[in-house]
Amino acid sequence: MSLQIDESVLKNVVADVLRKLQTQGAAPTIAKKDDDCGCSCNGACANGDYGVFKTASDAAAAAKEAQKKLRKLGIEGRDKVVKIIKATCAEKSVEWGQLEFDETKIGRLEHKIAKLQGIPNLPGVEWLSPRGMSGDHGITMEENTPFGVVGAITPVTHSIPTLSCNIVSMVAAGNTVVFNAHPKGARCAVVAIREFNKRIKSAIGIENIATIIETPTLDSFNELCSTPDVNLLCVTGGPGVVDAAMKSGKRAICAGPGNPPVVVDETAMLAKAARDIIFGAAFDNNLLCIGEKQVFVLDKVYSQFLSELKTAGAVGINGNQLDRLTKIAFTTDGNGGGCSHPVLNRDLVGADATKLAEIAGASAPTGTEILFAETDANHLFVIEEQMMPMLPIIRVKNIEEAIELAKISEHGYKHSSMIHSLNVVNMGLMARALDSTLFVKNGACVAGLGTGGEGYSSFSIATTTGEGITTPDTFTRRRRCVLVDSLQMY
Ligand code: NAD
Repeated sequence: MSLQIDESVLKNVVADVLRKLQTQGAAPTIAKKDDDCGCSCNGACANGDYGVFKTASDAAAAAKEAQKKLRKLGIEGRDKVVKIIKATCAEKSVEWGQLEFDETKIGRLEHKIAKLQGIPNLPGVEWLSPRGMSGDHGITMEENTPFGVVGAITPVTHSIPTLSCNIVSMVAAGNTVVFNAHPKGARCAVVAIREFNKRIKSAIGIENIATIIETPTLDSFNELCSTPDVNLLCVTGGPGVVDAAMKSGKRAICAGPGNPPVVVDETAMLAKAARDIIFGAAFDNNLLCIGEKQVFVLDKVYSQFLSELKTAGAVGINGNQLDRLTKIAFTTDGNGGGCSHPVLNRDLVGADATKLAEIAGASAPTGTEILFAETDANHLFVIEEQMMPMLPIIRVKNIEEAIELAKISEHGYKHSSMIHSLNVVNMGLMARALDSTLFVKNGACVAGLGTGGEGYSSFSIATTTGEGITTPDTFTRRRRCVLVDSLQMY
């Protein structure tokens, strides 16, 4: 998600990456054997070397020791770590993008690479600013101080990017961190942790500033939640893990699920709106939690908007084709009794648009980035967070209906929403009704994270618990230091 660079620059980066891949061949899919570690682990050794551990307790204890050492190096030491993470992500973006793509088998290679190339733009130690007060009664400073060790849970949709982004923010704030990655994105996460630790150790002599559980499970998650060595949790994922973290009894910063709606009204610049929506929704095959997932279009401009979508490269599928795709894309949880809950078919999450078209029995030319279909507001593709490049388009009679249905489809997650409109009243109506953490007007969703819009980026948007787009500040406690009157200087 998440590059603090201009949209055209992002497109050039992606094109450049593709060119390099074609001329140099794909990067190795598994890490080279590491001679330092003395075993044949192929880069995934779990003996505690370079941050990789078998148990959550061991990983947390090691991170706790590392945090004590990091404290002694002050802000300069944290800054060195942050710079190492950023430089390593930039340097390894092609290799690690390929590694993550091969392991997770979801999304688009060029976008996995681009996400890693955006890590250097994240805020670092400079983000932390103390607040000072001075007056007749003395001097008071409010400072940001670390929590200690953070237990972080990362999603399969952006495994190495979320891990790297979390390390930057958490270590800039003075913490160390233990990761329980998604099991389907854990091998590449282990490779990244090993590389980071090697470089950090050689630069500042400290190992285990970021540690990871080699084989993450629900048990290791529970162990992470219960060990006293972890002071704070940071969860990035769907409703299940957010719920589990909130019940753990530990303080948790939760970057939870979204289902971002888009409204297109009669004043919108329709050709631009179509291009922006495709750009955001097709990014990494719609794996972004901020990605456009359903579009409500006012009747007056509905037909024209559909034709702009086609002009911009989206491929429409008809009702029968959508039915065929929907039957494969969603199953039920098997509870029966007529009230089974739909379950997303994980095999289609982040799949290419051409694969979805094939399943639908439609034809989409090679290189098609996104499909669209006309649906009603209750369709599964509208109400479920589908994470596929298939946009449902809903015709609505007026702005009130558009906003009401958009709000229902967002489920009160307060995550992200978009409007394409030149009517500020409509913008205000939607802003107040949805109250989402990110609200983008006249741009692609990624403009909300600094790509094509102003602002910084993050891979953990703390929607559920309200901290918003996480920065180093998010992972600090605020402390007040007070010097009372008798020592004042005047
Ligand atoms: P997921 O919920 O399946 O998994 C996320 C993490 O939680 C994984 O590490 C997984 O192993 C763990 N997990 C899942 N259920 C758990 C449980 N009951 N107990 C303990 N751990 C559990 O999500 P995903 O498919 O990896 O990622 C996509 C989801 O994450 C989407 O809902 C998306 O919106 C959300 N997401 C949110 C943000 C954000 O910043 N708000 C960013 C990225 C992804």
